[in-house]
Amino acid sequence: MLDLIIAGGTVVDGSGAPRLRADVGVAQGRITAVGDLRGQPARAHHDATGRIVCPGFIDVHTHDDRLLLGTPHGPHPKLTQGVTTVVTGNCGISLAPLLSATTPPAPLDLLGADDWRYARFGDYLDALQAARPALNAVCLVGHSTLRVRHVADLERPATPSEAARMAADLADALDAGASGLSTGLYYPPARAATAEEVIAVGAPLTAARGILTMHLRDEADAIDDALREALHIGRALGVEAVLSHHKLIGQRNHGRSVQTLAAVDAAAAHQPVCMDCYPYNASSTMLLAARVGQSSEVLVTWSRGDPSAAGRSLFALARERGCTPEALVEQLAPAGAVYFAMHEDDVRRILAHPLTMVGSDGLAHDAVPHPRLWGTFPRVLGHYAREQRLFPLETAVYKMTGLSARRFGLADRGMIAPGYAADIVVFDEAHVADRASFEHPTTPSIGIDAVFVNGHLACEQGRTVHAHAGQVLRRTTKLGPAYSSPGLAT
Ligand SMILES: [Zn+2]
Repeated sequence: MLDLIIAGGTVVDGSGAPRLRADVGVAQGRITAVGDLRGQPARAHHDATGRIVCPGFIDVHTHDDRLLLGTPHGPHPKLTQGVTTVVTGNCGISLAPLLSATTPPAPLDLLGADDWRYARFGDYLDALQAARPALNAVCLVGHSTLRVRHVADLERPATPSEAARMAADLADALDAGASGLSTGLYYPPARAATAEEVIAVGAPLTAARGILTMHLRDEADAIDDALREALHIGRALGVEAVLSHHKLIGQRNHGRSVQTLAAVDAAAAHQPVCMDCYPYNASSTMLLAARVGQSSEVLVTWSRGDPSAAGRSLFALARERGCTPEALVEQLAPAGAVYFAMHEDDVRRILAHPLTMVGSDGLAHDAVPHPRLWGTFPRVLGHYAREQRLFPLETAVYKMTGLSARRFGLADRGMIAPGYAADIVVFDEAHVADRASFEHPTTPSIGIDAVFVNGHLACEQGRTVHAHAGQVLRRTTKLGPAYSSPGLAT
């Protein structure tokens, strides 16, 4: 007997194919049948009449390393959007492997309160599995985390022996089930690293067929060089290269996505490469004076120097206090910010590109976070697909499911088809929308009816029903990007 039938809905299967009317049958955490299941017995029915039924969304770009360890209270920022799998450890920043009694340098502090107690990456994966996360987790090792651990002076490239120690940590992590490596050469702890260092550290990726996600060294004036460097690293290692949150920052770089996307297309003919992006024309990261000068507006998301600044405009606050924005940056640090520095045309062009997946880049521990944390996926469905008609709904879903699963080697996720894990979202195509704004950034989205994680109803009408249905998806074979799911709970 089936555990569940999701009946009467319209299936958008995650492959990009046109929708079809079908029921979906689930047993033991897996999709077992797609078609006319009327009259079939099942322990539970979910009426999806008039609704879209699609694979659970895969948030390929997150910093949820620590968020996943906690038990969610109240609405969950990701489940309420229909997200069922997150990729952690992006931008060079991962919670493991690092032992530290003190706060490591920014931007590692974006991962929230100090919790640097995992000597090996496998210890973190074990802790995550024991915590039974709300969503499935695919975990990356951060190059900056490895640098903080092994490089004596972060202002210089790693010595050969330091690079060898970082590579050994990565190999150990891949053996334990990490999916790959992330880099953030833009950020202070990794700025001094050369491409050669990343290639030396990333060497274990090649045999393990791990993935490499890269926050480029520059997303502004020097974007061309930064893009060339990232493509070179991917080629040298012979692995899938993911260009993280692709964007063009600063007015004089607006419109340059025409050239950067052409460069990605040209590279894609010879090497595996893809991108992710979030559907907003404002970015968010640590508060940096250099980024302030490139922005038309800057909102403070958190500040240890002056917590009362969270949620305020940096420029307005500087005027009030009679100081320059740069001087205020010093007073607020360490801190985080939202930067308005992109052009909408670039956002649309990048989001619509066939190699672009959706990733939120949300920062769950910020006092007043960028709304992408709560709104990314419904915003693509509502604002960009339904209202702006940037692409059909089937394409929007593909960018959040099938494309992402394929690129990250999640062989049994991201599709509504027999044999796939029962990560499923039921939503109202006519009303799905983000509600998180820069003023009210933690307002849950609307129009997401039900979210199933591994066959369990995890979230219904925004309410968390099952907060521990997720699994740690460990990369288990050196022969290819295949993943194992631990025994599916019933
Ligand atoms: Zn980043």
